This record gives sequence, C-alpha cells and structure tokens, in this order.
Amino acid sequence: MAKKKAFKAESKRLMDLMINSIYTHKEIFLRELISNASDAIDKLYYKALKENLSDVKKEDFKIELSVDKENRTLTIRDNGIGMSKEELENNLGTIAKSGSFDFKAEHDKEEEIDIIGQFGVGFYSAFMVADKVEVISKQYGSDDAYRWYSENSDGYEIINYGKDGYGTEITLFLKPNTDDENYDEYLETYTIERLIKKYSDYIRYPIMMQVTEEKKKEDSDEVETVVEDKTLNSMVPIWKRSKSEISEEEYDNFYMDKFQDYNKPLEVIHTSVEGTVSYDALLFIPSKPPMNYYSNDYEKGLQLYSSGVFIMDKASELIPEHFRFVRGLVDSQDLSLNISREMLQHDRQLRAIASRIEKKIKSELLKMLRTEREKYEEFWSAFGTQIKYGVYADFGSHKELLQDLLMFYSSKEKKLVTLDEYVSRMKEDQKEIYYISGDDVDSIDKMPQVELLKNKEYEILYLSDDVDEFALQMMQNFKEKTFKNIAQGDLDLADEDEKKKLEEESKENKDLLEALQDALKDQVSEVKLSARLVSHPVVLSAADGMSFEMEKVLSQMPE
Ligand code: ADP
Ligand code: MG
Repeated sequence: MAKKKAFKAESKRLMDLMINSIYTHKEIFLRELISNASDAIDKLYYKALKENLSDVKKEDFKIELSVDKENRTLTIRDNGIGMSKEELENNLGTIAKSGSFDFKAEHDKEEEIDIIGQFGVGFYSAFMVADKVEVISKQYGSDDAYRWYSENSDGYEIINYGKDGYGTEITLFLKPNTDDENYDEYLETYTIERLIKKYSDYIRYPIMMQVTEEKKKEDSDEVETVVEDKTLNSMVPIWKRSKSEISEEEYDNFYMDKFQDYNKPLEVIHTSVEGTVSYDALLFIPSKPPMNYYSNDYEKGLQLYSSGVFIMDKASELIPEHFRFVRGLVDSQDLSLNISREMLQHDRQLRAIASRIEKKIKSELLKMLRTEREKYEEFWSAFGTQIKYGVYADFGSHKELLQDLLMFYSSKEKKLVTLDEYVSRMKEDQKEIYYISGDDVDSIDKMPQVELLKNKEYEILYLSDDVDEFALQMMQNFKEKTFKNIAQGDLDLADEDEKKKLEEESKENKDLLEALQDALKDQVSEVKLSARLVSHPVVLSAADGMSFEMEKVLSQMPE
C-alpha cells in the first residue's frame, strides 16, 4: 500500500492561495505543463549530445496530448529525461519557497495577482483545472517507473508503476463544471489548438494530438471523417524568426511563460548578429523586479543555447552585474558543445558575446530615455537603484557606460532629470553640479541650505536613495563638472557686497560667535555667520569630505 504523505502546511496554504487567485487565467496550466515537457526533452537532448547516446534521436522527441472525453481527462506525455522517485518527491512535493508566503502576508494590500506571478505558476497550476493529478514518470537510463498522485492537492503518494519508455506522462482529471466555469472545454480540440498557438507555438519539439477532422474527398463534394496525428505548433523558436513577423503579444507570452513573470516585460530586445561570433539574442527588461531580486536567491544570467540546443539556464557571465535584471537567452552556433559547463566561463566567444550584449542593452536604454521618457521613468523606478550601484561598484569603472543613464530629481524641473540635462541648463557662472541628500524629496525641499540656491535660481539635484551620493562621489565629475554637496563646505556664492557685509557683521558679532562656539565646543567645530541662509536662523553644515547623509548610511550598514 502506498504511504500517503502530507504537504507541508505552509505549502498547502500557498497552493490554495495560488489555485484560487489566478482565477481569470486558468488556461495557462497547459502552457506550464508543456514548458515542463519541453524542458525535460531539452535536458535529455543535451545529455545525449554530450554523452553520445545512440538510443536517443532528435527526430523522436515529441510531446503528445490526448483527451478522454468519457473520463474527462487530459494527458500530456513527453519522452524527455523523466524523473526518479527522489525527483518526483523533491520537484512535485515542495512548492515554491516558504519566503513567498511570508512576503505575501507582509504585502497584503498590494495587488494579489502580482504576488502570485512572482513565484512561478508551474506544475501546480494543474490544480486550477483538475481535482486529481497523476504523474507517471521513468527517468532515462532507469528500469523503474513511478506514479505520483494527488487528490485536491491535499497530500500526494508515490508508488512503483509500470511504464514503457522513458519520459513523463501527466494526466489531469478535470474538475466538475460549475455555473461559472466550464472545464469540459479543455477536452475540445479547438480549445487545445488555440491555447497551443497562443502560448506554446515556439516550443521546438512537435506537440502532437490525434484529431478528428471532416475533410472533403478529393475530386468530389463528399465529406469524410479523418483521424490523424496533427502537429499543433510551428516549432520555429521565436528568436529565429524575423522581428517583423512577431507580434508584441507573442513576445509577451513567450517572456511570461519562459521567465515565469506574471507581468509583461517593459522592453523586448531582439537582435541577430553575424560576424566573428554570430548569435541571436532575445532579451527582456522586466517591468518590476522579481520578488527575490534583492535577496541572495536571485541569480542573474541568460539562457544559453548552442545551435538551438539548450545548454544552461543562467549563464551569469553573459550579463554584467549592473544589468542583472535583464532576462533572456542567447543562441549561438559558434559555441562548441563539448565545452563543459565550467569551461564556459573562460570561453572567448562567450566573452565577446557578453560585451556586445552589454553595449546593446545600454544603447536600447538610452534610446528609450530619448524617445519614450515615461517608459524610461518606469524602468528607472524599477531598476534605477541597480544602475546607481553599478556606477559605485568596482571603483567607478563603469562610469562611462552608465553615467548617461542616471536620473535624479531636480529642484527646478520638479521631476527626474539626467545629468546631461542638468549641465546643459547650468547658469553661466556656475562651476559645479549642486546636489543635496536627504530622506525624501519633500523634506529635502524644506532644508535651509536649499533656500538660497533656489532664490538665486540654481538647479539642485535632490538625492534620496542611500547609494546616490556614493555613486556621485565615485564618479567625481560629469562632463568635467564636479559635484558639490550644498550642505557642505563653502559655496562661494556671495557677491562682493554680500561678502563685505558678512565680514562686517562677523566683526560686530565677534563676542557672540565666540560665546556660542565656547558653549558648543563639544558638538561643533566652528560657529560662523553665513550668507547661505534666507529665512532659517541656523544651519548645521558638514565640512568637506564625508557628508552627514553618507555617515548615516555607513553607520546603518551591517558590520
Ligand atoms: P519550474 O518549471 O519552474 O522548475 P514547475 O513547478 O513547473 O517549476 O516544475 C517543477 C520541477 O518538476 C521542474 O523543475 C522539473 O524538475 C520537474 N518536472 C516537471 N515536469 C516535468 C516533466 N514533464 N519531466 C521531467 N521533470 C519535470
Ligand atoms: Mg515549469
């Protein structure tokens, strides 16, 4: 007798949440299961090439769909790598990461649907349409097959089972129809065909189904019923097709499917390069950082294909740290398949591709900045901090690459501006780029140091991100203009009359200033009259060097 095991409580909650939340998108279950089948075939194909397996042939790979209307089941069968008992247990018995649920709890107010998308609607999406799911799998090279079975996603069981050939077969027992939902539609050929065209057309292995069609007989008007195996997808990978033939929706669907994002990408970059190294790249800039973006779980990298054969999922050397949010893939015929995955790092071709990709991403971002400002601002709010870290990291060595992408809030424009825009508007007598840091734009705007410069119509950049000032200090200058924190040191803005007046007043108030200095000697290094203040009586000012804000950030950093 099979032993029934319980899902972990947390997982069960997560699953219920998921199953009940993606209400309007139940149909994506098919896309998910087909993607998994395709991944499994990719894995076996790669293994076959590497190990020279003679019993695995590319032409034999396929994904088969079949329906049983009487029993209301839909089956998805692949001849991919299959799963061992342990893999069934680990891959289908553990859901997402427990952190996802915690995150959800913390962000209750936010739109539910976004959260759901973030942990990848994979295998478990089957439970959106099925109340019972059976997975029979035999791993390539193994003699044993197993059956994983779960009812109502309430625990699962695994038993030994008979199966011819390697691969996996997933059977969904569809839920009973309700007033709102007709699950029977997933048994209909036309629904299945529609879903495959919509979501899985680019899958590189044939998705086959036996279909019954009414066909006109040749040379007569008679109609006959033909049963035939039909390939439902066109199989040309999307990145091999010409850009002009691909709709935005196709790109979006491809991205959301492949990279498990519930949001459409903000930007698609599709490029083919011929030359010393030839490759196709299909890159996406997500519209939002994934949930784990700022955690150690997030792995940067692009999928790597060699002449259409999947090599690895996250080739991190293809994407520099400052663009780590970019998802996508690269397919090149110039990479030798024999190179082991470890060796890839040192591959010269790979480095050449990486450097071109970096430049391409930058030029696409710049283009967006120039032609689609609003979209760029969306990008900036999602990933601007990353770019600023990029400027700061590695001792500013990416300054040239990244400086034109930077944006900061401007006191004058009351919106984000680029450094180039700032410099082009600088007043004739102005030598430096003025900035000031604080918690947020509103509180910075009220700071006493800001008032005088605003009165004199200078533009000031308001820095409210922790990394901002570090990035500017690392850059040192932009177009030969140095950066000047207006809360620090001397601004030298007073004209001759003002300077004279200040000098006289200082003399007159010498005793007062000395008394104040004496009283505050443990707190401040100097007390002086200032030409910087307008309506505020006093301002604390840092000497040149580390600003108050930087000190604050550093003191908050973990040791
Ligand atoms: P993901 O595809 O994002 O990894 P899924 O929930 O879709 O998440 O699948 C979980 C895991 O189960 C897969 O990573 C894979 O290891 C395994 N798996 C699912 N379907 C198959 C299949 N048809 N053949 C082999 N392994 C599979
Ligand atoms: Mg999957």
